[in-house]
Amino acid sequence: METIEILPGRLYQLGFEIGCVYLWCDPVELTLIDTGVAGSGPAIAEAIRGLGRDPGELRRVLLTHCHEDHTGSAAEIGGWNEGLVQVMAHRMDAPVIRGDQPMLLPVFDDAPAWERELWAAKPDLPAVPPARVDVELSEGDAVGFGGGARVVAVPGHTDGSAAFYLPGPRVLFTGDAVANVAGRTMLGVFNRDRARAIESLHRLAGLDARVAVFGHGEPITSGAAAALRAAAADTV
Ligand SMILES: [Zn+2]
Ligand SMILES: [Zn+2]
Repeated sequence: METIEILPGRLYQLGFEIGCVYLWCDPVELTLIDTGVAGSGPAIAEAIRGLGRDPGELRRVLLTHCHEDHTGSAAEIGGWNEGLVQVMAHRMDAPVIRGDQPMLLPVFDDAPAWERELWAAKPDLPAVPPARVDVELSEGDAVGFGGGARVVAVPGHTDGSAAFYLPGPRVLFTGDAVANVAGRTMLGVFNRDRARAIESLHRLAGLDARVAVFGHGEPITSGAAAALRAAAADTV
């Protein structure tokens, strides 16, 4: 796992083989966005210590959606710190994360052919234990980190996909609604409803984000809104 500093002292990407976890550092508490595949907890704790902070400062885990590479370690990390960690997810994906509803597979009908091939070549991920969701989120909800985050519902990748936007520092966490791989900002792959995912991409492009970080790929540290607008314009 590789730790990349995005905003010094504030925002770090913890990059795993599959998918990214983000750590937001406020002065006396920490927030994690996504949790990696099952079994990532010890590596995340070690990365936090490596930054001179303490896993005991973690107060919330925000899940961008229900997929295994994002929620895999939510049960484990949600159990840190004797009940002080709140696990949050959009209300439409919360039942899947809890194990009360099945994970629905992507629909490839209107996706480019290469997406189906990528799906077929995808490695099997470790089984995900059901996780507690303490707070069910909806569009426009406020979450108390980074000077006040806002929930932006971005359905399409999954029904309950959520992005998180910090209007103060203008930082956007897109989850898998958008990817930024090999220098290309693009609609995320493996969508339940591609048309809705495209609408969601346009919504994110309408925010005035300076920094954007993605479920998969490299962070954009300036001019994110322009990159998102270009991606939206390119996507049909
Ligand atoms: Zn996903
Ligand atoms: Zn993903």
